[in-house]
Amino acid sequence: MKTIGVLTSGGDAPGMNAAVRAVVRSGVSKGLKVMGIRRGFNGLIHGDIFEMNLRSVSNTIQRGGTMLYTARCPEFRTQEGIQKAADTCKYFGIEGIVVIGGDGSFRGAKDLSAAGIPCVGIPGTIDNDIACCDKTIGYDTAMNTIISMVDKIRDTSESHDRCSVVEVMGRRAGYLALNAGIAVGATSILIPEMEFDFERDVISRIKRTQTTGKRDFIIMVAEGVVLDNKMSIEEMTKKIEEETGVETRHTVLGHVQRGGSPSAYDRVLGSKMGYRAVELLEQGEGSRVVAIKKEEIVDYDIVEALDMKKEINPRIYQMAYDISI
Ligand code: ADP
Repeated sequence: MKTIGVLTSGGDAPGMNAAVRAVVRSGVSKGLKVMGIRRGFNGLIHGDIFEMNLRSVSNTIQRGGTMLYTARCPEFRTQEGIQKAADTCKYFGIEGIVVIGGDGSFRGAKDLSAAGIPCVGIPGTIDNDIACCDKTIGYDTAMNTIISMVDKIRDTSESHDRCSVVEVMGRRAGYLALNAGIAVGATSILIPEMEFDFERDVISRIKRTQTTGKRDFIIMVAEGVVLDNKMSIEEMTKKIEEETGVETRHTVLGHVQRGGSPSAYDRVLGSKMGYRAVELLEQGEGSRVVAIKKEEIVDYDIVEALDMKKEINPRIYQMAYDISI
């Protein structure tokens, strides 16, 4: 293999730049030509591609976002789109691609591998929802961002004896809400993976905690939570105030959770994964996903990785409840 490409796709995540940097630096060190592909699979379809060198990635390891930009590319879901992308690779001499993104991007990488361009996926998503991987790039930084925001909310909640319902990202995955909720001492944590009863798990918990002298509360909610009676998070906020008598405010943290300088953990993780991805391509291994398991960098077949299901550890969920009263 003489030429490889690297792209970032789907939702951005802090630490993606560290992975791009490692791909470029290790690729160039091995004598490979490394091509940067802008805006995910879009860049591959439209030929938005440039040659990178050791200095192209200078001063990027500490930056959030992705220097290669990212996009969603509906055209890539079609056979014609994949064929166009494979043709672009042939035109530029790209013989293998590192795809940094979430499970959607891995499905694209699987299809492109099947079309004759070996791809290696690197999990980059703040949601931590890649089943084969203990932690994805960006998750640690996002959790730290949430914690620092909620600490600020808590100062004002405490001063006013308020309840704050904090809505965090996670349409289908509650890892951010669960672990950030543990880290800020949330009274209740509501996530899409675990069934809950609003009266029992929110109202009664607040009331019970009130009897022990607590006067301010954090309720951590993942945005994808479907409440049992189809209440919106806004309606839930009103109901908490009505039923407990505690003034209650809803805060949506939003896109602030995606940005910011990556944590030490995400910089190191991105670097390790980028390095491993190039090793795999160099060994002629395509259709793989790099992951971290018990702090070891490992890799899986991309089809097997996509078939795995990630589950919330019920013991951790229970622990969160047991220690937050
Ligand atoms: P993420 O990678 O963060 O999960 P998306 O699900 O939006 O983000 O996927 C990113 C891109 O990957 C999509 O815009 C599309 O180009 C490609 N993709 C997603 N799903 C598929 C699929 N089933 N087949 C082929 N390509 C896909």
